Amino acid sequence: MILEKKDIRALSKEELRNFFVGLGDKAFRGNQVYEWLWSKSAHTFEAMTNLSLETRTHLETHFTINNIKVDSIQRSNDGTIKNAVKLHDGFIVESVLIPTKSRTTACVSSQVGCSLDCLFCATSRLKRMRNLNPDEIYDQVVAIDKESRLYHNRPLSNIVFMGMGEPLMNYKNVLGSIEKITSPEGLGMSPKRITVSTSGVPKMIRKMADDDVRFHLAVSLHSAIQETREQIMPFAKSFTLDDLRDALIYWYEKTNRAITYEYIVWKDINDKKEDIDALVRFCAHVPCKVNLIEYNPIDDGQFQQAQDAAVDAYISGLEKVRVPVTVRRSRGKDIDAACGQLANKS
Ligand code: SAH
Repeated sequence: MILEKKDIRALSKEELRNFFVGLGDKAFRGNQVYEWLWSKSAHTFEAMTNLSLETRTHLETHFTINNIKVDSIQRSNDGTIKNAVKLHDGFIVESVLIPTKSRTTACVSSQVGCSLDCLFCATSRLKRMRNLNPDEIYDQVVAIDKESRLYHNRPLSNIVFMGMGEPLMNYKNVLGSIEKITSPEGLGMSPKRITVSTSGVPKMIRKMADDDVRFHLAVSLHSAIQETREQIMPFAKSFTLDDLRDALIYWYEKTNRAITYEYIVWKDINDKKEDIDALVRFCAHVPCKVNLIEYNPIDDGQFQQAQDAAVDAYISGLEKVRVPVTVRRSRGKDIDAACGQLANKS
């Protein structure tokens, strides 16, 4: 009989402790292994040098460590680094390191492909194959942290769930990864430095509010007019702006935390006064800020970045009603590492 080995990092600390007790060993052994797996990011049982050879062999026969492998690294002129990350079953996802003067941000993937259908996003063209496990998300962060130290001489400071996939469609595992990232037994990072970005899944936004999560929420809005939003993000027919608005109000009432709206201004799609007026009205529902993202072309030109004048009109429209607005310059475009460009081209 071939024993199906289990991913050891699917076990909680308690389960690991019980495993050792079951063997007639000390529960404490479970703590030691847990520390190797998470805060020390051991990739093999062999590396767990404070365990006896017998214990290590035992673990080896029962478990695997499904660690990721950084398959290739691309470095952009602007310091951005893109990792193609191979998962234990051969699938590849991408994660990105984005350095600025004051911080280093990791942009991580939460799914292989994506089940949503945003027409402007390269990832939406890849079928969703599977969700990432908490450890696979955690490993991406660890890999970027190492690169940040190596290439930029400083640890990672921020994490955004803006890589491949829709984090709220893999909610449990995303939360599991954040638990490890923020735990002192993991990376010990503050949840305030983490942003989960969603295309807007109302039911899950409510769930997050109920779960009293501590990280930030960003919503990829792109239009505050229902018909327009449906055209560019067809799934929005089922997840309407009205539902989204109600969920965001609920979020704010529960968490007291402002929301960031991500927004691209496209030529002839949402660059008119009525689009700005609709966004201004939408922004009145909950305290928020708007991040105007530069569009990264992914193909033929159905979508084109709007003229600067249109972006300026958005800025002044929002500033008039005192909604903070930032313009995010694209990074890593030359290596297809910018937002919406992650599609495993290689
Ligand atoms: N599914 C999540 C996270 C992944 S997308 C979400 O939608 O928020 C991360 C961000 O990149 C989103 O704001 C998304 O709208 C944006 N994006 C997608 N394609 C883009 C493109 N081609 N150019 C610029 N931003 C893009």
